[in-house]
Amino acid sequence: MKNFPNVTVVDHPFVIDSLAHLRDEKTDIRRFRYHSDQICHFLFAQAIEGLTFKTVEIQTPIMQTQVQKLADDVIILPILRAGLAMLFGAIHLLPKSKVGFAGIKRNEDTALPMEYYWNMPEFKENSVLIVTDPMLATGGTIKHIIDKIDKSKCKEVRVVSVVSAPEGIKTIRDAYPDIKIFTAAIDEKLNSKAYIQPGLGDYGDRYFGT
Ligand code: URA
Repeated sequence: MKNFPNVTVVDHPFVIDSLAHLRDEKTDIRRFRYHSDQICHFLFAQAIEGLTFKTVEIQTPIMQTQVQKLADDVIILPILRAGLAMLFGAIHLLPKSKVGFAGIKRNEDTALPMEYYWNMPEFKENSVLIVTDPMLATGGTIKHIIDKIDKSKCKEVRVVSVVSAPEGIKTIRDAYPDIKIFTAAIDEKLNSKAYIQPGLGDYGDRYFGT
């Protein structure tokens, strides 16, 4: 995308089709989950592009040969609660990845992000952290988490979201111009309640049935 360097809009036909189902208010929970998982496969497949591989010697049924295996230590970091909806698809695709959890909610008095849970695996110099939140709205929560991560202890931080608002992308980009964002769509804008429009409503409510 020209105006958003470092943002990759994953526009595979399966993603475009699944996103249409997610946006439709008539999509029930079973189909919402199916299409959410489907999109996450494509988003995470794209989000590991450019990671480091190592050469490993193996034996095929025919002969010994060399193959390439992912060498980076991938850590998925879902933001509670909606980020959990993306975790199932992510660990299906990356079964050896570790998972860190960040619980952030809005302080109703100050409107600032307030942390209520933080549990991270140990970061290593080859750790690539993938922060997941399906709706990149204001970007305040994701920025709060990236601020808190000790980036000197890991290799890279990336962000994966299903739908992004230009406002949220700007928040992340202004603070962290080098961080790569992977998303299925960049929507028009936020409405007065900080919901993305046209968006798809509350992702967590629709995925978890609340
Ligand atoms: N969170 C959601 O679930 N939806 C939005 O539109 C914005 C934030």
